Amino acid sequence: MILREGPEGIYRFTSFGEGVVAGFHSRMFDNSKRAEFLEGLRLRFEDLVMVKQVHGKAVVAAEKADPALLETPADGLITQTRGLVLGIRTADCVPVFLWDPVGRVAGIVHGGWKSVKSGIISQALNVFEKKHRTKTEDLRVAIGPAIRRCCYEVGKEFLGYFPGFYYARDAAKGHLDLVGVIKSRLMKRGVPESRIDDAGFCTVCENKRFFSYRAEQQTQERILSVISIL
Ligand SMILES: [Zn+2]
Repeated sequence: MILREGPEGIYRFTSFGEGVVAGFHSRMFDNSKRAEFLEGLRLRFEDLVMVKQVHGKAVVAAEKADPALLETPADGLITQTRGLVLGIRTADCVPVFLWDPVGRVAGIVHGGWKSVKSGIISQALNVFEKKHRTKTEDLRVAIGPAIRRCCYEVGKEFLGYFPGFYYARDAAKGHLDLVGVIKSRLMKRGVPESRIDDAGFCTVCENKRFFSYRAEQQTQERILSVISIL
């Protein structure tokens, strides 16, 4: 479940409980207003750490707000450091928030189709399990605003990429349920369905509220999704 808190246009997942903040914003916050967004969540811009998103499957362990990470090719971040703010920028791709309340480990993934196809969900769970001894049944996961099956038109080659999640419309095109792929991969690894909280927003259907690369034909603006251990 999501609650809107503090200034308008800021969304926070309350399902993760106390001890962690996970949230994202509406288009009231463009790329120049990231500090204001973080302030609304009572986080500090100087604690924000992001990576050079490349649609791959690398997930990096972050220990401090190292600016060099912005040049590190990766699409996921994991930390145990309190106060550090892990951030992912999206505009249709799927922001996936991960929280292990037992080991107090937080992660975030930029789930585009290429990354998901390469195995980034599995890779992120591997880091939780191997580095932090997280049990996947303890994990809490949240899914932010993303392009949904209703609007995600793709070519028929996606039938081969994601069998079971491609819905043919005609001989050449169909719709992809990428969020469905991500949920299914999490569940196959032992994350209970009841612990996956989906904000449910489609960035294209709700383009008045969220940035969308497709709906706006290549906008530079991005939704910043963040997670931070308190
Ligand atoms: Zn839609």
